[in-house]
Amino acid sequence: MENGAAQPVIVAIDGPSGTGKSSTSKAVASQLGLSYLDTGAQYRAITWWMVTNGIDTDDPSAIAAAAGKPDIVSGTDPSHPTITVDGADVAAPIRTQEVTSKVSAVSAVAEVRARITELQRSIAATAEQGIVVEGRDIGTTVLPDADLKIFLTASPEARAARRSGELKGADVNATREALIKRDAADSSRKTSPLAKAGDAVEVDTTELTLAQVIECVVTLVEEKRAAK
Ligand code: C5P
Repeated sequence: MENGAAQPVIVAIDGPSGTGKSSTSKAVASQLGLSYLDTGAQYRAITWWMVTNGIDTDDPSAIAAAAGKPDIVSGTDPSHPTITVDGADVAAPIRTQEVTSKVSAVSAVAEVRARITELQRSIAATAEQGIVVEGRDIGTTVLPDADLKIFLTASPEARAARRSGELKGADVNATREALIKRDAADSSRKTSPLAKAGDAVEVDTTELTLAQVIECVVTLVEEKRAAK
């Protein structure tokens, strides 16, 4: 770099639930002064809207017909990420068990993915310093030209233990079964499934602390920036 100014950098972080994607992505974005986008929150928000408006989430054609209706806005400050639907703050209701159990079916519908993918690309394109985007299909589909792609993994046991910790003492076995079911649905759908991009760096977080994962990703981003 000749002028010493940091170049905008686009980082895609994908992987299944409970691998530490959100905590890692937020911390990396904060440390490096980048924006942050939680794409799972967007799919949860559209699912919440479908449920709230009485759309049958087992009916893909009903979901497709309504996919364009809600106005979903994401705030990309990593220290205070926000999500609204038609102007209402939905940060809490999108985390309910009902939304969690229905989000895979809603996000499998091609019209939903087209709508949300367009939103994600426009947010990434306007992030001046660059952005960390976390999800399932960011490196493969949404931002295939990202400067750095990370794919986080962890054993099902580690993922379930982390998730039940977040859910304040939820049953680990039930959490594990629900996670496995959601990952299977997300990985097997036709349109942009959960998958590792060919050029992604895979980081197995099973034996790592959150601080170690963050340090590893920050180092990888800094290397990419230095090479730009
Ligand atoms: O990351 P989180 O667990 O909040 O994601 C919720 C759901 O949103 C996932 O299980 C998946 O069905 C969907 N999703 C997706 N593509 C993404 C991010 C999330 O299909 N890029």
